[in-house]
Amino acid sequence: MANPANNVPLMDVNRDNLPLREEFIEALTDVVDSGRFLFGPDVVELESEVAAYSQVDNAIGCASGSDALLLAMMALNIGPGDEVIVPSFTFFASVSCITRLGATPVFVDIRPDTFNIDAEKIEAAITPRTKAIIAVHLFGQCAEIDRICQIACAHDVVVVEDAAQAIGAAYHSRPAGSWGLIGCFSFYPTKNLGGMGDGGMMTSLDPATADRLRLFAGHGMRPRYFHKVVGINSRLDTFQAAVLRVKLRHLPEAVEARQTIASRYKRWLTEAGVVGDDTMVLPYEDPNAFHVWNQYAVRIPGGRRDALRAHLSEQNVGSEIYYPIPVHKQECYRDKKYSDASLPETNKACAEIMNLPIFPGLTESEQRQVVDTVAKFYSASNRMVA
Ligand SMILES: *Cc1c(COP(=O)(O)O)cnc(C)c1O
Repeated sequence: MANPANNVPLMDVNRDNLPLREEFIEALTDVVDSGRFLFGPDVVELESEVAAYSQVDNAIGCASGSDALLLAMMALNIGPGDEVIVPSFTFFASVSCITRLGATPVFVDIRPDTFNIDAEKIEAAITPRTKAIIAVHLFGQCAEIDRICQIACAHDVVVVEDAAQAIGAAYHSRPAGSWGLIGCFSFYPTKNLGGMGDGGMMTSLDPATADRLRLFAGHGMRPRYFHKVVGINSRLDTFQAAVLRVKLRHLPEAVEARQTIASRYKRWLTEAGVVGDDTMVLPYEDPNAFHVWNQYAVRIPGGRRDALRAHLSEQNVGSEIYYPIPVHKQECYRDKKYSDASLPETNKACAEIMNLPIFPGLTESEQRQVVDTVAKFYSASNRMVA
């Protein structure tokens, strides 16, 4: 690795992938030799392995997590006049799948502790036009998906899970992607199950829904050259599937490594005395959730976040902000004039959130360096206050 001395990267895809290099080469060689670059056996196998891992009967590969969400909306026939409830504190794709089809996103605020959609605020946002709720499992921890499904069921509304950051996560021991009518996964390289390019998957317990998802992902074509609906072309290719099958075999270890890193952060940051309501607020762990830690997100209140980030960056410690601007405030939606009034926690999270390095290959000494660098920032700024 060509890392400068003492550099602690936010993430390092190579460090997680290269130990598996021989397994990748072997799997990819088989694909080269087979010549079956689309719809190859690895795609079929990966679909059934992800289905089993997520405890659903059906899984359908597609080109990305963004496509998985778009296909979910298409399969549900969402369009102009329909409303879809969604958080604004999320990655853009959770919302663009709605607006691209001419439907209206109805933004619901997040819980300040988990950063996930606040289930208790969903009911008030439901109208006769509401067709679906997109529950995003942010940072690797499930939203209160049991409660969300209850509310949806009572109002005859469908639940779609955006589990792009949460493969392997669970709520009340039931996997992400198995609660809603459709679960959407991403294999973007930095996701917990990361490929070597783009890829995605949709899960469903309902065979008719799974069939519609597959139809829409294949140009709505059935049989060949006869088009039942206007679908799109969204395929997971065999090379990605071959890589992902290798990664899936190692996913439980990778999740465990992330959990170890998260608990070490909690212990070390607490011991360093930097944790507090005015300094650094650590991630809240919902006792019902099995957290897979795609991100380690802390809150830095009091307007000191950017100074802390500058200090980390001077010391070569990586950090990031997921997400600096809520989706409802994005430039592309300026003409929509989405109201801000009901989203105070969303706006506050964007101002305070900061993500620390977390990936399976992060070493203990690097983590020590992260914690020491944070501690130095607070001891220096406390001296200045005193
Ligand atoms: C990554 C991500 C997506 C999109 O996945 P891609 O595979 O990059 O298209 C959607 N939603 C969330 C919450 C994500 O983190």
